[in-house]
Order: sequence, then structure tokens, then C-alpha cells
Amino acid sequence: MSEIRIGQGYDVHRLAEGRRLVLGGVTVPHTRGLLGHSDADALTHAVIDALLGAAGLGDIGGMFPDTEEQWRGADSLALLRTVCGRMPEYEIVNVDTTVVAQGPKLAPYREEMRRNLAGAMGVPPERVNVKFTTEEGLGFTGAAQGIAASAAALIRVKG
Ligand code: MG
Repeated sequence: MSEIRIGQGYDVHRLAEGRRLVLGGVTVPHTRGLLGHSDADALTHAVIDALLGAAGLGDIGGMFPDTEEQWRGADSLALLRTVCGRMPEYEIVNVDTTVVAQGPKLAPYREEMRRNLAGAMGVPPERVNVKFTTEEGLGFTGAAQGIAASAAALIRVKG
């Protein structure tokens, strides 16, 4: 059996006025958006870190430093595509994710997020799962100060 590897990723961004809310490459209509150097797509960032973790390639901050002007406002799906291009020896078996947000309602955007993430990774949407939950009003997600996302990725050596 070819070698399989697992990775996990976690990311948080603060919600702020005057920003677009981008999750899984979908711009979700909302009064506030996630603050960050790139488009601050916490879901896609968690997926990137899960893949980098599985491949043993460090983390998103090491690959795309937020001190570098070239990543300002970056489309995180493009970063995900770049990451996949740097691990050509691996096939992505599946990626599972959870977004923790008190609001807005994200379920209507699930399939689009799934398709976007899968498209950037070059895999069928069936290999990607996107889940949503709240923390019941507790903590920073519950207070809608920010949104958190986590991801797990399983990859295997090709051939
Ligand atoms: Mg991030």
C-alpha cells in the first residue's frame, strides 16, 4: 500500500467593518468581513495548513509571509492552488473541514465552497466536505468577534 499521511489546519480571523466576508472562495453577503493581509479566507487557510501539514511542508505563514506586499489582498484559492502545485508527488484522498461562526447562515453556500476548494485542489467535490457550527454564543466566535475554521487532510503518495 502506498504511504498515506494526515494533516490538520486551524485558522482564525477577526470580523471587521468594511471588509468582504470570503469563505471557501465564496463572498458571503454580510455586514462585516474577515480582516487579514490576504482576503482572510479562514476556511481556505485551514485547508492549506492541513495539506502543508500532511506533506510536512511547514505552514501557510512560512510559504506566504504576511509581511510580503505580493500577498496583500491575495485570493486564497490561488494560494491553495500554488500549495497543491508544490506537492506533486501526493494525491489528495479527502479533506474535511469545519467553520465555526455565530453568523451569518452559511449552509446555502456549502456546495459552492466545496466546489471552489475541490477545483483549486484539482479533485472532485466528493473528496471535500464543508461543515458549519456555532459555539452557542460562547467565546469569540459566539460574540461574533471572529470566525474560526479547522481542516483535516488525508493524502497519499501517487502510484
Ligand atoms: Mg489566515
